[in-house]
Amino acid sequence: MGILGLGKKKPSPNQDPAPVPTGPAASPSPKAKNNFVIVVFDSCRYDTFVEAAPKTIQKLGEVERRYSYASWTAPSHYNLLMGLVPHVSPSRVYASEYYKNDFFRYNERLGSDGIDFGKLVPQLYLPIYLQKELGYRTHAKVSLPVLNPKTPINRGFDTFRLMEKHNDMAAMLDEMTFPEDRPSFYLLNVGETHYPYALPSEDMASLNLPHISGVHGVVKKMDQQIEDGQLKKEKPPEFFDEDQLAYLKERQVEAVRYLDQVVERLFNMVPRNTWIIITSDHGELFGEEGYFGHGPIQHDKVFEVPFVEGLVP
Ligand SMILES: [Zn+2]
Repeated sequence: MGILGLGKKKPSPNQDPAPVPTGPAASPSPKAKNNFVIVVFDSCRYDTFVEAAPKTIQKLGEVERRYSYASWTAPSHYNLLMGLVPHVSPSRVYASEYYKNDFFRYNERLGSDGIDFGKLVPQLYLPIYLQKELGYRTHAKVSLPVLNPKTPINRGFDTFRLMEKHNDMAAMLDEMTFPEDRPSFYLLNVGETHYPYALPSEDMASLNLPHISGVHGVVKKMDQQIEDGQLKKEKPPEFFDEDQLAYLKERQVEAVRYLDQVVERLFNMVPRNTWIIITSDHGELFGEEGYFGHGPIQHDKVFEVPFVEGLVP
């Protein structure tokens, strides 16, 4: 036997093939009571959220100022799906103590008497754990193409859908169901609060705002930007002036006010045993120290996010 064949056994023709796990039959019996919904208002700053004073969302619990582990969408959602929600920032506390308390909260969130946390490893990925260990149905509905179903974020989900519009949380609600035989988990990545902070009824063309691509859009168009092995020299759009930045921030406030009504519909449609988290994946800069947006920006306001959780009121 050559080196490449070392240790390989020929399969015996009489051997039974390994069982292939199939759909619901492979799911364990449910080990938690609560449905679990995480709503991420993409790019929503803590202070615009507070300024919007969303009446319905505040019924869920105390709105906290928390901090995202990342400054843009993909790593922030990956982190979130590891089970680590945006953090408070306590001094004189070891990270291990913080993580321990944060993970322990899942007993209350999921309505479980005693979660076997050891089963979270080695994958350390909440959707897989919820699906394979706790018997959840797992679904993601996302607005931003950088989280599309072909990305590595899509693991452990029964369904994973990039919505047709980047800014229509209400359309996500139309597709949500909560069958009683097992609990459901939903990740909703909501785009109304993302630039250009447009409501689903708005006509984007009439906004007269520059198109600013995220990582997905940049990479998609990258090949047309290269000529003779060099990036084409194109003048970027004019940077926003102060009035425009104030207008854009106000648009994000209005987007939160609109989403508060959609959340009211969510609260009315979910079963009473549903734990909901509403938060953001990162903040947004509206001119502070010359910055706009998020991503390759090191600034407090890009990490500050709103966080509120509780059983549906
Ligand atoms: Zn984002």
